Parts: sequence; structure tokens; C-alpha cells
Amino acid sequence: MDTYSAMIPSLGRATADAADTLFGKGRGKVMSRFPRPGLRGSYSGSCVVCLRGTDTGFAVRGDAEAVIAALIAAGVPESEAYETARAKWNEQGLEVAKGNVPGGVQDAVITLCKDDADRVGLHVGLLASHELPG
Ligand SMILES: [Zn+2]
Repeated sequence: MDTYSAMIPSLGRATADAADTLFGKGRGKVMSRFPRPGLRGSYSGSCVVCLRGTDTGFAVRGDAEAVIAALIAAGVPESEAYETARAKWNEQGLEVAKGNVPGGVQDAVITLCKDDADRVGLHVGLLASHELPG
């Protein structure tokens, strides 16, 4: 399994830099901005940016780094994109340890509300389910 920091050194550095900016040099700690999960114990159906309920989004198929890049393109801060992706992979049962990414091609459905999609110039569609068609 590839390590996240080895695969995307610039993002790892950006995360550390953001934490240093927020909390002081060397005292960095990235805090979760997530509220309590919904009734189903997950954020499924919530916009990845504003966390409001939404039934729109888009799909990405590619390696793990493509999923992380898509989250950043959608407006998720770089410092949170990896953990957001890892949470999704773990929701799918991949059991990705902190600092790692899953190997191979990943399918990800990224829920994104129309307002946030418009903000970054992405097109979203109505999600019939949160699974990609086989
Ligand atoms: Zn949103």
C-alpha cells in the first residue's frame, strides 16, 4: 500500500503548513470540522463542502490521488481532502490506515450541492443512489 505522504508530498506539506499557521509552528494539529454524523452514522447524502443534505454530486474513477484531487477541485480544503477521502474509503470497508491510500482504481461518488458546484464551476447531476452503475 502506498503512503499518502510519499505519493503526494506537496499536499502533506500543505497540511502541515496549514496546521502551523492555525496553531503555531510545530504545534500543528488538524481539527475535524465535521458535525456529528447523521442517523445512519455517516455523512452519506451530505455535501462534502458545506455538509448540508443534497442529492446532487459527481463521480470520479481513478487512483486514490485522483479522488483526493477531485475533492480539492470541489472546494474541500487541501488540509482536509485526504481525511475526507480516507473516511469514504473506510465507509466502503477498505480499512485504510492513517497515512495510506488504497491501491488500484477507485470509484468515488462525491456528493456536492449545486451552490458549491456553481462556486467552483463544476457540473453536478442528480444522484439516484450513491453507487456507480456496474
Ligand atoms: Zn454544499
